[in-house]
Amino acid sequence: MRDVCIVGGGVAGLAASIFTARAGLDTLVIDSGGRTPPNSRTQSSDGSILERNASLENYPGFPDGVDARRYLDLTREQAQTAGTTIELGRVTRVEPVDESDLEAGFVLETEGGEPLDARRVIAASWADSEYLVPLDVGRIQRGSKHFVSVDDAGRTAVDGIYAAGRLANEPHQAIVAAGHGAKVALAVIHDSDANFYYDWVASEGYFTGRGREVPPGCEEISDEERRKRDERARERMLEAFAEPLDERPTMHPSVEQD
Ligand SMILES: Cc1cc2nc3c(=O)[nH]c(=O)nc-3n(C[C@H](O)[C@H](O)[C@H](O)COP(=O)(O)OP(=O)(O)OC[C@H]3O[C@@H](n4cnc5c(N)ncnc54)[C@H](O)[C@@H]3O)c2cc1C
Repeated sequence: MRDVCIVGGGVAGLAASIFTARAGLDTLVIDSGGRTPPNSRTQSSDGSILERNASLENYPGFPDGVDARRYLDLTREQAQTAGTTIELGRVTRVEPVDESDLEAGFVLETEGGEPLDARRVIAASWADSEYLVPLDVGRIQRGSKHFVSVDDAGRTAVDGIYAAGRLANEPHQAIVAAGHGAKVALAVIHDSDANFYYDWVASEGYFTGRGREVPPGCEEISDEERRKRDERARERMLEAFAEPLDERPTMHPSVEQD
């Protein structure tokens, strides 16, 4: 059984997965979107709502903005580098393995695919929370939309089930969804057995130079290693931004097009 299954590989879900995977938790992201690596389950035309964006200009780190699809591709790649497995599929139902013992984890049914199981589930699926109905997590209806009620750390009323991003009623902005995904992931890490302080990379001697052990989750690296990582990162970014993307934003489904 996996440690964490994240339903939704959009902004919040991918950010969450980077943290849980780097903390050593076996993490699966399952996403119903068409741009996810097509390695299993269903074919579907939806995906992150951010794919409707024409130019992402308020996400820190991109002084002239970034193509939203390029941002999603890079974030997906970062999640996989961190150790996340990403699969294509739509989750239709989540139920406890054992009603009387939520520690036993959850079974996730998928449309046309094999069921999955995970000890903890982060729901990060923006507009879809129907699959949580059997669990009675506390859904709030506003107009045609449902949100999931969570505490400050993203925990729902059901132990082991969390919600992140827009689904958790966070403001409708990408950086907020990413930040919330990370925050909820920290709650998952805290609630699991992972030995974790912070996810930090510091210079050699930052902790040990003060007679402290490197805390769990942290890493000290030499200057040579820092340069190596910087070189690798520069190469990757040059490659990633070398060519224009040949994909256009997704239009609102109710707009008629030729
Ligand atoms: C036209 C437009 C322009 C925007 N521009 C900006 C902008 O410039 N700046 C900004 O900050 N924000 C912008 N946003 C808002 C931003 O896109 C969202 O706030 C952000 O994407 C929310 O992240 P999320 O992870 O909660 O949801 P999403 O990014 O939508 O991710 C949800 C994921 O869940 C998957 N999913 C859904 N149901 C299931 C299921 N049952 N099983 C498996 N997977 C499922 C979907 O495929 C999707 O990939 C814009 C939004 C729109 C519509």
